[in-house]
Amino acid sequence: MGLTRSSTGSAAAGERSAPDGRLVVLCGSPNVGKSTLFNRLTGLRQHTGNWSGKTVGCAYGRCRGDREIVLADAPGAPSLRAVSGEEARTRDIVCFGGAERVCAVCAVPLARTLPLALMAMEAHGCVCVCVNMLDEAEKLGVKCDLEKLSELLGVPVCGVSAASGEGADAVAAMFSGAAEETPRSPVRYPDDIERAVGEILAAEPRLGRFLALSLLRGDTDAAESAARGLGIPPDELERAAAAGRALLSDPGSADARIAAAVSRTALEIERAVCSEPPAPDWRLDRVLTHPVLGLPCMLGLLALVLWLTAAGANVPSEWLAAALGYVGGALSSALAFLPEWAHSALIDGMWETSARVASVMLPPMAIFFPLFALLEDVGYLPRVAFCLDGAFARAGASGRQALTMCMGFGCNAAGVVGCRIIGSERERLAAVLTNAFVPCNGRFPALIAVTSLFFARSAASVAAALCALVLLGSALSLVYTRVLTATVLRGLPSSFVLELPPYRRADPLGVVVRSAVDRTAFVFARAVKVAAPAGLLIWALTRLGVLGALSSALDPAGRVLGLDGAILLSFVLALPANELVLPILLLCLSVPAGTDLAGALAMAGWTGETALCFLIFMLLHPPCATTLLTIKSETGSWKWAALAFVLPLSAGAGLCAAVHFVYEHIII
Ligand code: GDP
Repeated sequence: MGLTRSSTGSAAAGERSAPDGRLVVLCGSPNVGKSTLFNRLTGLRQHTGNWSGKTVGCAYGRCRGDREIVLADAPGAPSLRAVSGEEARTRDIVCFGGAERVCAVCAVPLARTLPLALMAMEAHGCVCVCVNMLDEAEKLGVKCDLEKLSELLGVPVCGVSAASGEGADAVAAMFSGAAEETPRSPVRYPDDIERAVGEILAAEPRLGRFLALSLLRGDTDAAESAARGLGIPPDELERAAAAGRALLSDPGSADARIAAAVSRTALEIERAVCSEPPAPDWRLDRVLTHPVLGLPCMLGLLALVLWLTAAGANVPSEWLAAALGYVGGALSSALAFLPEWAHSALIDGMWETSARVASVMLPPMAIFFPLFALLEDVGYLPRVAFCLDGAFARAGASGRQALTMCMGFGCNAAGVVGCRIIGSERERLAAVLTNAFVPCNGRFPALIAVTSLFFARSAASVAAALCALVLLGSALSLVYTRVLTATVLRGLPSSFVLELPPYRRADPLGVVVRSAVDRTAFVFARAVKVAAPAGLLIWALTRLGVLGALSSALDPAGRVLGLDGAILLSFVLALPANELVLPILLLCLSVPAGTDLAGALAMAGWTGETALCFLIFMLLHPPCATTLLTIKSETGSWKWAALAFVLPLSAGAGLCAAVHFVYEHIII
């Protein structure tokens, strides 16, 4: 049963607070399988994938085994020393979220994933540990003595393989059990730090060891959170922190010494409970992340995905159009008793638009999304970020922006929310403002349709043309990022650690279900929800004779851009969803029922120039309304949403005008 989801395409809906119940927070390093475990225990479908940073915001769901228990899936955080805003959320939900229990999810190698568990033990009074991906550990030949781990930590430990569900019942049973108080964590800090922690806790016992250590590290963000979360006046906190710091032998190195003690303990525990892991196999990465070979490999994979999408979508699109035409005919006869205007509103307005959206959108989406999910599950996305890191650094931006652009391929609104993984505010803004330069799935079907009608007959040449368009969008996104980071968002690029996860065999069934149910159905339902009322509106405007007038009014502007009034009007009316542009255009052109796209565009006098300018404008026009609202909610300001509107528009209009100029003055 679903309660809340907060990533994927529905992210724009925002986050809700935890429902009533006994709250258990799942936290852990990125990519240890928290969301997979969360989905397994709740029956929900939180976004999973083999890369760090996909869980943004907190998702809540009721535990299947015990519906009294509410599980929270916190964003991935390698430690509670928050660097990005999302990691700060994890820290805050662990420290102040009112959870009955915190479950630290770990995976092999423990030295990398246990530090979070050790910090959670310092931050919360009731902690348990889940060691996930035991199947993968077994395949690698790594044996873990979980009883010994439990003994060394002093907290309950459960082993699980969340992907297959093995051990999930035991985890649910562990959550149902009585909440036992967690003993002190096994981390031993240098003596001066221990004394300083004691001093701070004597002055302010409510803080707990983790927050006391944060004060010693000079973590002002954690201090502010503590003041807010525990209601301690900031000056009292500062007094307690100063008393502690006075006992440190070298306050400047406190942060490093604290981190070193945690890492050392995690490593010692790993050595005591796990057999030696084999050295990772980097052979594939020598090619995929190679400075010279990496980029062609990336483009090759992109072309392959687009080729499969273009080649596979045509025939089902025609079938679907024929089937929906048949259903439309039957519906029309069944509704023949209605007055003419109502019949026409329902059939010519709402049904026709929705049917066109369905037949044009559904097949490419149903192919593209699973292919993309496959790349995501295998672990390829971080390799893309790795290859593009240098280019983003030169644009003054974060390499993580490449990941948010990848998410934009699915849905720009999801890409914008995904930008929360970028720690630096100015880099996050740059990524938010330029995300719409990547064509979302709502734009691909129109790009494919017009490309194949005017420029390319074979699927391979359609894929090549699409690749060129994607490259153009990505290059312009870098150019605009550079301009933004040199002007309104000036500052130095921050550094970050990009983790390359191991390649994992994707679960094909899981991929199909996840992409079909979560993405295809979600995006499709949204499009149809918007298509039906939009169809009705356009039908009404046509009947009132307003559509023609609006189209004529926009014609001069359209002509300057190599387009025409009807095309420009379709873009304006399709602001709620990009996938509506072509269906709306067909309504604006008021072609006889049953005319196919090729016929309709020929009747409207489209030339190669019109098609080229349409493709450019389809790639580079303002983000849809959902994305704009998401930008407003993510940045807290209409000012940034307005800038995100203007940036792609300026690029699209500029390029179209240039193409028109070339056709007018040079080619003809
Ligand atoms: P999160 O970032 O911690 O939420 O991690 P996810 O739940 O998104 O999982 C990361 C990757 O690990 C995904 O590709 C999952 O399919 C995979 N995964 C999760 N749990 C398991 C498991 O128990 N075994 C294996 N082999 N893979 C898993």
